[in-house]
Amino acid sequence: MEPKQIINFGAGPSKLPQSVLLQAQKELLDYGGIGFSVLEMSHRSADFGKILNKAESLMRELLSIPDNYKVMFLQGGGSGQFSAIPLNLIGLKEDNCADYLVTGTWSERAAKEAEKYGKVNIVHPKLDRYTKIPDPSSWTLNPSASYVYYCYNETVHGVEYDFTPETNGVLLVSDMSSNLLSRPVDVSKFGLIFAGAQKNVGCAGVTVVIVREDLLGHAQKECPITMDYKVQAANNSLYNTPPCYSIYIVGLVLEWIKNNGGSAAMETLNKQKSSMIYDIINASNGFYECPVDVSCRSRMNIPFRVGKKGGDEALEKEFLAAASKRGMLSLKGHRSVGGIRASLYNAVTVEETEALATFMKEFLKEHQ
Ligand code: PLP
Repeated sequence: MEPKQIINFGAGPSKLPQSVLLQAQKELLDYGGIGFSVLEMSHRSADFGKILNKAESLMRELLSIPDNYKVMFLQGGGSGQFSAIPLNLIGLKEDNCADYLVTGTWSERAAKEAEKYGKVNIVHPKLDRYTKIPDPSSWTLNPSASYVYYCYNETVHGVEYDFTPETNGVLLVSDMSSNLLSRPVDVSKFGLIFAGAQKNVGCAGVTVVIVREDLLGHAQKECPITMDYKVQAANNSLYNTPPCYSIYIVGLVLEWIKNNGGSAAMETLNKQKSSMIYDIINASNGFYECPVDVSCRSRMNIPFRVGKKGGDEALEKEFLAAASKRGMLSLKGHRSVGGIRASLYNAVTVEETEALATFMKEFLKEHQ
């Protein structure tokens, strides 16, 4: 009997390209003929140096990162950066304050963490639900802020900016954990970009930080040394032992992105895949409901309810069970919002998205 094809629609850690997994498998015991695994390799060895350089140079190439930016591969996850960013940057100006846009769970957590280190100004009226991006005309940006922070794609709520916030010259900082390299981005507009790798660019354990050089050297004295950007940049991410294997996987994923046309090609596919699912939701007469404003619906994470406005939990259970029978896994919404969430990161193919679309249409027909 043919093994059942499994499709992983998880929000992260999430699907990796099949070819990346196969290459990692092939090289697991003997990397490049050296007789042992990357898992066993010294981070100070020449072989690991090549792995690290490859990941960095591919990142630079794929994002056209200007020369005056450092690229670091750090530990501590996306959440570690919620602390590292204020610890390094909130003191850039004497008011010791920062502006935050809070459009979902992840920017909310980042803002809360930053409050430990300085003054935090939420620039817009507080949202009672995370289903939209407040109109920029309602923002009150503080010109004395050291930086403006936003989360480009809110993974839990499925809210993604379709524009780059205008900050009147104040440094812009962005969490791109769940959409880095899913679309082109102009790095020169940012002071700092970070991304936990475990969605679009690799596996858990490593966080990519891209930071403009002039922002190094401003850490508060309490900043843990492993989080000090100046120290990590000066040591090429090797101040202490980095997450070697995760960096190796990032290199393989970036190679895969490059061989598949780079971020512009990823964007074309991601538009196509997400439209396929949103079109079904829109045409379902309310049977499927996505609460997010049309203007900021994420291409990466599509949250929706099934059966009626606000969701019919019993029917959603049935939906998940029927999807699982067809090999479609990890579609359950985040525990804080319920319902369904389909994550369509770069590694999820058009054919796999079509399989979900077909299933959604059939489920609709049977239950409407
Ligand atoms: N930022 C975003 C957008 C995320 O989706 C996540 C996790 O899913 C995080 C930050 C936190 O990342 P970590 O779990 O690596 O701390």
